[in-house]
Amino acid sequence: MKKLLYTMLELEEWNKNSTCCFCYNKSVCQIRTRNKITHEIIANDEACENCKETFENNELEKCERCGRLKNRHSYVCHCIVDNENVDEKELPILPHEEREATFYERQINSLREELITTEEALEIEREEVVKFQEKSEEWSKKQKQELLDKVKGLEEKIKQLEEENRKLKEEKNGQIAQIEVKETKRWSWLKIKK
Ligand SMILES: [Zn+2]
Ligand SMILES: [Zn+2]
Repeated sequence: MKKLLYTMLELEEWNKNSTCCFCYNKSVCQIRTRNKITHEIIANDEACENCKETFENNELEKCERCGRLKNRHSYVCHCIVDNENVDEKELPILPHEEREATFYERQINSLREELITTEEALEIEREEVVKFQEKSEEWSKKQKQELLDKVKGLEEKIKQLEEENRKLKEEKNGQIAQIEVKETKRWSWLKIKK
């Protein structure tokens, strides 16, 4: 199998209205396949949203012989039609000889990986925030209930004190009335004695 570099790229002007090369949906991106050693582009396939996702999950079918993505246009892979010698030893190219395009495609691939990692981290962060919010809502609900219970308890205590106060007043009034009665009796007795 050849050493290949697959890069997902935006559609260019000429393939904007193309159909997916793996099914019949409208394409949303292109996947460029480049020989890592010779830097030659060996395939450029348009892909729809579904097939793009399949590709990203590394589940898009590839030719077992050369590694090109299996395209609905060709039942027989290019490597067989063109009788490519896939076992041929290609001379490795030194890093500084890498062509610009390959360099950018590698950059795009590593940035895309970084983006996926960042999105995953963000998703985890978001879940944490939601969890925290739920927790704090629960906490403030509990706090509120506790305060309400306290208020209720205080109100009952006030009622009880008012009741006690009322009883005390009644008792006192009764005592005053009794004293007054006694006093009047004493005075009338004194008057009689005179
Ligand atoms: Zn498709
Ligand atoms: Zn092939």
